[in-house]
Amino acid sequence: MKKKTKSQPPFHKLYLDQLRDLYSAETQLTKALPKMAKAASSANLRKAFLDHLEETNGQIERLDKIFGALEQKPTGKKCAAMEGLIKEGKEVIEEEDDFGPEVTDAALIAAAQRVEHYEVSAYGSAKSFAEILGFDDAARLLAETKKEEENADKKLNELALIEINQRALESEETSEETADEESMMSATSRSRNRSSHTGHSNTSRS
Ligand code: ZN
Ligand code: FE
Ligand code: FE
Ligand code: FE
Repeated sequence: MKKKTKSQPPFHKLYLDQLRDLYSAETQLTKALPKMAKAASSANLRKAFLDHLEETNGQIERLDKIFGALEQKPTGKKCAAMEGLIKEGKEVIEEEDDFGPEVTDAALIAAAQRVEHYEVSAYGSAKSFAEILGFDDAARLLAETKKEEENADKKLNELALIEINQRALESEETSEETADEESMMSATSRSRNRSSHTGHSNTSRS
């Protein structure tokens, strides 16, 4: 047994472990969000990621305050769940060439909402622990962050519904028309292409 560090009672230790997990999660996220912003093709989605990056830095400051008040270090734990969620986000970015920019945006939101739900859940637990353990200031800070995570999730969801998913669908229709002009050509594009009856208007270019 170590003599130097005063050992915590188990429930207090669990509370600290939860906070360290969150600190790790948020720190990992500050490295992932710029990459997700860069991969986004919608300006609104890019802005949502960058706005949340700024919020995330503030969330880390809140955790720093909580640890400071407890005279504890925030480091020493790695959030395995966030590592996995970020890995899935990376897969989305790597598949961009296959899916195209519009569908990739839809996939980025799906990945990001998974992150926000994880955070909402984790902050909810940490806040409840803080409350029952009598850490009122910490509970208030954790509630603030939880609200931000909920708003981030809501914002991403609205963006998906009002813009991103529709654009993903339209991009699919466009690429299907290119792949199979005869069957997928709509009335409007048919009249637009009336002069080239063969359907192979772009093949004799040399
Ligand atoms: Zn987080
Ligand atoms: Fe966060
Ligand atoms: Fe975790
Ligand atoms: Fe978040």
